[in-house]
Formats: sequence, structure tokens, C-alpha cells
Amino acid sequence: MGCLFCNIISGATPSKKVYENEKVYAFEDINPQAPVHVLVIHKTHIEKLEDLTAANSSIMADLFLAVKEVAEIRGIDEKGYRVIINNGTAGGQVIWHLHVHVMGGKDDMGPMVVR
Ligand code: 5GP
Ligand code: ZN
Repeated sequence: MGCLFCNIISGATPSKKVYENEKVYAFEDINPQAPVHVLVIHKTHIEKLEDLTAANSSIMADLFLAVKEVAEIRGIDEKGYRVIINNGTAGGQVIWHLHVHVMGGKDDMGPMVVR
């Protein structure tokens, strides 16, 4: 299989699981950019937001319900946290399996975009 995140879902590539249900998998980012940095992925492989359709739009609901679970598990839900999707090349996406970054664990996550 050519997709790293599909390999993480299957277990072929190891990862540190934070949360899983029948639809989604959440795991620690290998190169954390904040004290809490978890990636949430859907078990259905789609590359990016442009691949969403009315027929598969439940992917986003599944992902964001899992974001909420992850925030609670990691204890950042009350203080708040940042949710990022790097979408497409100019958006900084390097892994072509749609994923949500859940980042927090600080009092202030700083500027939204570094210029
Ligand atoms: P993107 O730029 O595509 O939004 O982010 C990809 C993210 O995947 C990066 O934050 C990077 O650190 C993370 N990543 C890349 N390879 C691996 C890996 O093998 N394991 C884990 N856990 N994270 C990875
Ligand atoms: Zn994939």
C-alpha cells in the first residue's frame, strides 16, 4: 500500500494510538509542534477536501466528533485548542490522506499563521 496513514490504520506502520472507533483513528504526531499534537484520520481514504461529496460528507462529522473525543482524552477541551487541516500543496499538506491536526496544551497557541 502506498499510503502511510492507511498503513498506520492497518497497523503495518506503528503509531501511538490516542483514540479509535469503527470510523476513525487518532494518533500522536511523530514530530509534535505543541505539547498536545494528535492527528485524526478517517478509515476511508480520501486525499483532500476536494474529494468530499454529498455522499461521503459523513467523513467530516466522524472526524470532528473524534476531535472532540481526543481533546477530552488529552485534557485540553476546557482550555481550548487549535484544529488545523493542511489542504493541498500550498496549504502545506505532505501526507495525501485527509487528516486533522489537534494541537494544544498551551495557554496561547500563538498567531494563526506565521508570516
Ligand atoms: P501535513 O503537513 O500533511 O498536514 O502533516 C503531516 C503530519 O504527519 C506532520 O505533522 C508529520 O509530523 C506527521 N507524520 C509524518 N509521518 C509520520 C509518521 O510516520 N507517523 C506519525 N505518527 N506522524 C507522521
Ligand atoms: Zn490513506
